[in-house]
Amino acid sequence: MDLLSRPLLNVGIMSGTQIEFSLPKGAERRQVSLVDGCVCYQGRLYPSLEFNVGSFTLYGVTIGVDFHWERSRDLDYAGILSFIVEGDKITAVNKVDVEEYLLSVISSEMKSSAEVEFLKAHAVISRSWVLSQLRSRRENKAKVKAARPKGMVDSPKRHIQWFDHEDHTAFDVCADDHCQRYQGLCMAVGENVRTALQETCGEVLVYDGKICDARFSKCCGGTTELFSTCWEDVDYPYLQSVKDPFCDTSDPDILSQVLNDYDLETRDFFRWEQRYTQKELSELVRKRSGVDFGTIEDLVPVERGASGRIKRLMVVGSKRKMEIGKELIIRRWLSESHLKSSAFEISREGTDFVLEGKGWGHGVGLCQIGAAVMASKGYGYKEILAYYYPGSEIEKRYE
Ligand SMILES: [Zn+2]
Ligand SMILES: [Zn+2]
Repeated sequence: MDLLSRPLLNVGIMSGTQIEFSLPKGAERRQVSLVDGCVCYQGRLYPSLEFNVGSFTLYGVTIGVDFHWERSRDLDYAGILSFIVEGDKITAVNKVDVEEYLLSVISSEMKSSAEVEFLKAHAVISRSWVLSQLRSRRENKAKVKAARPKGMVDSPKRHIQWFDHEDHTAFDVCADDHCQRYQGLCMAVGENVRTALQETCGEVLVYDGKICDARFSKCCGGTTELFSTCWEDVDYPYLQSVKDPFCDTSDPDILSQVLNDYDLETRDFFRWEQRYTQKELSELVRKRSGVDFGTIEDLVPVERGASGRIKRLMVVGSKRKMEIGKELIIRRWLSESHLKSSAFEISREGTDFVLEGKGWGHGVGLCQIGAAVMASKGYGYKEILAYYYPGSEIEKRYE
């Protein structure tokens, strides 16, 4: 593959019919609003609008959309601000140097006090992911959507759906957990994060000369999962299921390296339990799925992935039976927000349902807690990456 020059990335930050912002950051508030399908700014209409004054503030940015840590913040950013119209909303897009973007992503995702080798591993996979997004979107803009539609089988008997990153058409990546959490300049960047990025500048993970789809999640629960359990029905040689003896930890020093403060609200992730009365579960599933199952009488795993994550689950109600999947649908339909993972056993206590689960997230690729433990035991970032992405190599794509 050709060497890339250091690319600029288009990051979709927020959408709305009205967006408040400041130029430069912290200055007086201004606003744009949607009028007649255009961006209306100071009484004039524009098809799109771009500001390049070096920095800006956006007000009321939602982070953790739909997750239990969802909250709204005012955030500062570096680089160019543009407003584009997408459907019936305006989207604020930040054009930013890819290494700048990564500085913020790594700082948003993890504590800057984390071990350098762990941060380096994360820098490489975050960079790999974002460069592969950029390349596939720009090379096959039209083709991508046509060739890889969002997976969906919806019939009265089956609802199998998955979500991947191809959703964005107007920008490269979004700023939330759907892609990678990006909170602009608001994250204080620590020395370790800066070092990790400088020492791995331009390095990506490759397999057979192609940039890897380097997925990662919070905690695999003891075994990592296969791609096909969560997304499209394909698997990759470097995303095998591996045993992870590292992530069973409750060491607060390690956890505080990986989990930001609001993530520390969730500590029970290696093993967890969720209980529902039959009535609670029946109402919850009706509310979350929009499907009236009547009273839920049973939950039967139909197929599990290599880590134990349920890929297809039979929901048996008094009015109907339906097979649902993949893992994210199962996590959404069985929780007010999201179950931590779909790796759970189901038992009954009287009429109550008890879900005993392991892990947090889809479990594919690098396990963040496990990788942090490996770094604390003295493993280098290359060893960590080789462990979670067997057969992959590291290649420098730009200086
Ligand atoms: Zn996204
Ligand atoms: Zn793990």
